[in-house]
Amino acid sequence: MNPDSITRIQEMEETYDSVRKDIAPLREYKESGQMDSIDKVLAFNRQFVASKGYEPFVTDKFPARKLAVLSCMDTRLTVLLQEALGLKNGDAKIIKNAGAVIPSPWDSAMQSLIVAVYELGVEEIMVVAHTDCGACNMSFGHFRKEMLKRGIPEAELQRTDVNLDQWLEGFHDTEASVRATVEAIARHPLMPKDVTVRGFIMETVTGELTEVK
Ligand SMILES: [Zn+2]
Repeated sequence: MNPDSITRIQEMEETYDSVRKDIAPLREYKESGQMDSIDKVLAFNRQFVASKGYEPFVTDKFPARKLAVLSCMDTRLTVLLQEALGLKNGDAKIIKNAGAVIPSPWDSAMQSLIVAVYELGVEEIMVVAHTDCGACNMSFGHFRKEMLKRGIPEAELQRTDVNLDQWLEGFHDTEASVRATVEAIARHPLMPKDVTVRGFIMETVTGELTEVK
């Protein structure tokens, strides 16, 4: 065996050893039920990298399908969204927020879409809301009570630099929200007219898409 290969094998063994040492205390936490979510993520991550779990996901930053998807952060869609749309790693830019909305033309979801179009070659944009969305019927009144319970001073809820009623208000009609979001993207002053924007509602259990026209 050539000396280079031997060195590489030694390096790999050292990496595995250090990973094993890192994981050992985390396992003890887990067994005693004290390991929190982030610790579990870190333990998994070390194993994932060490076992080269990343290999099937290697790609570049340009979306192969020239597609961007604005969707909801709902946990039921964490994996379902890509699976139901048939998207692999590298196929599309996926942007998520609470409700798949563009509350302001200058918010961060809109900024991401502009970057996706001008820098990353996106030509088509899908807005994918979903049934039974938590942002539907969300209201500041509810948050206000919870915030006071969690120790936020009343003065912070009376801020004048932001309209919290508006900022934390959800939508009441999913179809209307999708239409408004599609309009906000398609008519954005910086969005080129040759970009296609279409809106959909995903059935949260089956993943079935229905287009909103
Ligand atoms: Zn949602």
